[in-house]
Amino acid sequence: ARSNDPLIHHWMPFTANKQFHEAPRIIARAEGVHYWNTSGEKLLDAVSGLYTTPAGHGRREIREAVSRQLEELDYAPPFQYGVPGAFRLAHELAQMLPAGLNRVFFAGGGSEAVESALKVAIQYHRVRGQGQRQRFVGRARGYHGVNFAGWSVGGMVKNRDAFGLGLPGVSHMRHTHIEANRFTMGQGEHGGIDLADDLQRMIDLYGADTIAACIVEPIAGSTGILVPPQGYLERLRAICDKHGILLIFDEVICGFGRTGHAFAADAFGVTPDMMTMAKAITNGNIPMAAIAVREDIQQTILDAAGPDAIEFFHGYTYSGHPVACAAALATLKIYRDDDLFGRAAALAPKFLERIAGMRDLSMVIDTRGYGLLGAVDLAADGTPGKRGFAILRKAFEHGLVLRVTGDTVIFSPMFITTEDQLDEMFDGLRAVLKTV
Ligand code: PMP
Repeated sequence: ARSNDPLIHHWMPFTANKQFHEAPRIIARAEGVHYWNTSGEKLLDAVSGLYTTPAGHGRREIREAVSRQLEELDYAPPFQYGVPGAFRLAHELAQMLPAGLNRVFFAGGGSEAVESALKVAIQYHRVRGQGQRQRFVGRARGYHGVNFAGWSVGGMVKNRDAFGLGLPGVSHMRHTHIEANRFTMGQGEHGGIDLADDLQRMIDLYGADTIAACIVEPIAGSTGILVPPQGYLERLRAICDKHGILLIFDEVICGFGRTGHAFAADAFGVTPDMMTMAKAITNGNIPMAAIAVREDIQQTILDAAGPDAIEFFHGYTYSGHPVACAAALATLKIYRDDDLFGRAAALAPKFLERIAGMRDLSMVIDTRGYGLLGAVDLAADGTPGKRGFAILRKAFEHGLVLRVTGDTVIFSPMFITTEDQLDEMFDGLRAVLKTV
């Protein structure tokens, strides 16, 4: 497709620019770790869709489960009614999640999950007579989706500045220091503690009894795979506990085996009060998200409502969609049957070695990684982001689908990726970097 093709003028793509409109990169087919473009050329997927598809594209088990579900029950309303798959899926997730996080609410995508978690936090405090707890604390360089509350608690400057005021009463902790295009998260032995103490500073400023929740991605994904320094998440947990603030982990990217553990909460040994999940919950096959809530939080809201009242004044038409539940149940079965989280853990050291190996290139100024998430920071070429964008374009021509944020190239390979395919990814990036 080219700009003279009348078919391409009507779709408004997500964060595109003129270059994309003139020469859109179109992905037409997928199977396993590969895509094909409209000319039938094969591309290697180095980012599992968009962190969505760790079990590989085109899984027959999911397709068949979706098809069976469509034949049996295509849709039923989630208000005052339920479908068997939603109950079953919530039960299965409760078994996988850290102990105590065993009440599950469904949504259509990560942004909706974030909104839902923030609203649960407000409601929990209100029913306990603490309606003044309305503030949220997020992080600079956090990403929590594009809906109003999500971009408000998020800290990506461009996402925020493009839309104005957002949700009131939101503060952002420092997340990382950036110097000369280089991220340095909490330097030194106590760096993580120092960063987390920003939460305490906000409590000192606004009063603990005004803050409903603190939301963080355990590993910040969209802003460049920023791994928490030693002691950071533990310290946030301790401060939240001390002051009755709910801690929310946004595991939309790092949940479902990406860290080599079921959830990043397991990897770092810190359990939040609520967790958001999406993307890999259905292997990316059907839009779906979930929030897990500590049992007593939901019970408190339920008890306060009384026998005939409505419990939670919030829900989506597609909360617990039967087809999404069927896709998620089939996906979780694949994760178990193929021991895919174990495969992720086994592949991670080799992956991290290859990420670190990119440092021998003069254009590479830093690398980071955890589990099967990795980032390669490139020296900027004039305008920040210009080089990163050029790399994404050239990689596509070279047969490699990457994710780029600013001048950082992100890898999040599928759990079924072979070592040879890892080599292909990194050799591919090397070849592309040589051309710029
Ligand atoms: N939270 C995090 C941590 C994310 O990475 C994303 C999406 N990349 C979202 C929320 C928003 O999810 P969605 O795009 O499905 O609304």
